[in-house]
Amino acid sequence: MHGAMNHKGNAMLQSFGSNVFNEAVMRERLKKETRRALRRSIEKGQRLDPALADEIAAAMKDWAIEKGATHFTHWFQPMTGFTAEKHESFLSPQADGRAMANFSGKELIKGEPDASSFPSGGLRATFEARGYTAWDVSSPVFLKEDDGGHTLCIPTAFCSYTGEALDKKTPLLRSMEALSLQAVRVLHALGQKEVERVIATVGAEQEYFLIDRKYFEQRNDLIFTGRTLFGGRPPKGQEMEDHYFGSIKERIAAFMRDLDLELWKLGVSAKTKHNEVAPAQHELAPVFHTTNIATDHNQLTMEIMKKVANRHGLVCLLHEKPFAGVNGSGKHNNWSLQTDTGQNLLDPGSTPAENAQFLVFLAAVIKAVDEYADLMRLAASNPGNDHRLGANEAPPAIISIFLGEELQGVLEEIQTGQARQASGPRFLDIGTSTLPHLPRDTSDRNRTSPFAFTGNKFEFRMVPSSISIAGPNFTLNTIVAEALRTIADRLEGQGDLHASINSLVREIIQKHSRVVFNGNNYAQEWVDEAARRGLPNVSNAVDAAEAMLSSRNIELFERHKVFTRPELEARHDIYLENYIKTIRIEALTMIDMARRQITPAVLKAGREMAKSIRTITEALGTDRLSRIRKNLEALTERLERFIEETDALEKAVQAADGQHDIKEHARAFRDQVFTAMNTLRQTGDQLEMSVDASSWPFPTYRELLFKV
Ligand code: ADP
Ligand code: MG
Repeated sequence: MHGAMNHKGNAMLQSFGSNVFNEAVMRERLKKETRRALRRSIEKGQRLDPALADEIAAAMKDWAIEKGATHFTHWFQPMTGFTAEKHESFLSPQADGRAMANFSGKELIKGEPDASSFPSGGLRATFEARGYTAWDVSSPVFLKEDDGGHTLCIPTAFCSYTGEALDKKTPLLRSMEALSLQAVRVLHALGQKEVERVIATVGAEQEYFLIDRKYFEQRNDLIFTGRTLFGGRPPKGQEMEDHYFGSIKERIAAFMRDLDLELWKLGVSAKTKHNEVAPAQHELAPVFHTTNIATDHNQLTMEIMKKVANRHGLVCLLHEKPFAGVNGSGKHNNWSLQTDTGQNLLDPGSTPAENAQFLVFLAAVIKAVDEYADLMRLAASNPGNDHRLGANEAPPAIISIFLGEELQGVLEEIQTGQARQASGPRFLDIGTSTLPHLPRDTSDRNRTSPFAFTGNKFEFRMVPSSISIAGPNFTLNTIVAEALRTIADRLEGQGDLHASINSLVREIIQKHSRVVFNGNNYAQEWVDEAARRGLPNVSNAVDAAEAMLSSRNIELFERHKVFTRPELEARHDIYLENYIKTIRIEALTMIDMARRQITPAVLKAGREMAKSIRTITEALGTDRLSRIRKNLEALTERLERFIEETDALEKAVQAADGQHDIKEHARAFRDQVFTAMNTLRQTGDQLEMSVDASSWPFPTYRELLFKV
């Protein structure tokens, strides 16, 4: 056993990146000039010479075939938030009846999946455009292994022929460009002339639940919606904070080992943490990467988690709130800025000049987040997160920034021009003083903040667990690009740079410090305080979607060439359609479970009770079973109500679907359907608690959460 594990450990190290067409492979298989041209294409966005593309494609094909691949695919990320692929064989038949393996530069660079069923929000109709996929040279090509064989996957952007983005990657790449452009302007103004590119870096920690597949398969709600639509709270939840680990350890550990191995092969450097707060909940943290690769890696991580779980007789739930009453799942999107010279721009540094630069970039983030809180909120919204935000141990729906006391103190001194305390480090003048030591100790961190500064990066903790992180990151990149743009405008060509920086940072802090909050975000006091400060508190995904249509935000995205107005309008509609579809599927699943599972089961349980009463009464010859009778009466009444509420839910769905305007349609689902679902659930959960356990028609929270 031990030997086998050691062997596995070594295999893991050896296999890291073994399925990636990475630098090492390129060194072996590509000419030096070709590699150099490719690097220029990656780093500077220069077009690749078609002859070189042919050479690269041939090398990729040979590498893939040697590793057992038979097919290739353009791997893309349509607006569903999932990944899509269309496999094509390398084989091409020859005139003499034999076949040859072929893969040209053209096939590498551009593909035409007939992917017309993906949502386009009307963009296709408007522009009469088919979709095509284009190789994203900045994300490595990789080999996917599964039961269907080995497939060479080429990360691609998915656009219409006239260039409208039909996916998640295109705006992300555009936002990286925008951010780099503005950040470089600021750095040049600050005297850092050697920097040519700034890259947003991201590490996305992924939370997830693992449950036993045999229980999953008996629950239509989990199968169809990924979350439980019924389920009474078991006597034990997460209050003991013991993670219920004893007997499950082996099985989960085996899953994690296998998961690591699969991810490592793809070059995803995962370090798993075993447990999260809720029972059956876990987390995986990767090593950070460029925004673009981190996003691809997170998509792969989610996919592989599901696949590996299956192999272990488990099911991986990525929904934001699979279980009521215990923690939900999020993604902690760690985000920072890195120069091509290797500096982290959100790292305070140790000299006055570094500090000045740090404070300028910090101020930019604060300004961006305050000014575009509505976009941040949108970036963290999906139907599932409406259950999570503001509930058990999750940030509320209010956007705020945690900076920590030390940094907060520094900003206050800058703002007021007065030292806080007579003794100790002072920070009054940017560019001449150095920052006091900022502790990077994890123990002292505020874990309740939706957007926390953690020493050398920001951690966006509101992000839903199941979505692509492209949205949160193109949002961050774009709003910070905008703040940096206005800062660059101010600093460029200034004679007295020192004074300009001082007044600029002071102004930004004065204007935007309302968004900074270091206290407990989970407390009601903060909700009240935030309202006094005038910070928006958008409670649901439907309202959050409005941010896509405000002229201010459209201007922002157009200015930075991340989205055009039609693209945003299309996304808005797709977003609301997705909301409507999600809630409708949930409602219909509830109705189905209510009518075909719960109601018959409760009726049967009632019949058994009635029989027992009759038998006992006969046997004893008395009629004194008043409590048992009352139970039966209560059960019957509850069931009556349950049936009525099921009918009401069905009517609510029908009424909502009568709405033609998309916003009204979504609001009807939020206000009528969703409310009717909550009512039905309450009664359903009461029924669960009032009949004998063996008569309940599907596994309960007990099995789902505690018997993994
Ligand atoms: P901690 O565990 O103290 O929160 P870690 O260093 O483990 O901090 O980081 C947590 C996550 O943040 C990891 O996914 C990590 O890769 C990521 N991360 C660390 N530094 C950066 C950075 N400069 N930019 C983006 N993400 C980062
Ligand atoms: Mg974290």
